[in-house]
Amino acid sequence: METHHDTYDDLDELPWRELAACRTHDADLFFPPGETGGAALTIRLAKRICAECPVELDCLYYAVSTGQRFGIWGGTDENDRRRLRRRWVAARGNVGEADLIGWLSKAS
Ligand code: SF4
Repeated sequence: METHHDTYDDLDELPWRELAACRTHDADLFFPPGETGGAALTIRLAKRICAECPVELDCLYYAVSTGQRFGIWGGTDENDRRRLRRRWVAARGNVGEADLIGWLSKAS
């Protein structure tokens, strides 16, 4: 079974990956085809797993800071991350690039 993070070679080096709640779930759950119908249910299920994940913030930070466009990361879908990214761009003047993870912990 291929899991969410197996699909990304550059995640191999990240220690938080070993604690990911999705490591026992199939990657398809985190990369639903679209957003409606059965995909909407899949997205809700994936987000529920993320909500219990001890490394949710690390995962979200990775996804936002590396511009991951597809899939569920850190409890967010593609639209959630686009909205977060827009808010981050608007707030960046006050917060600073280095504080993205702190900003995300309050914004998400
Ligand atoms: S937050 Fe979700 S996608 Fe990220 S590591 Fe945890 S379970 Fe996987």
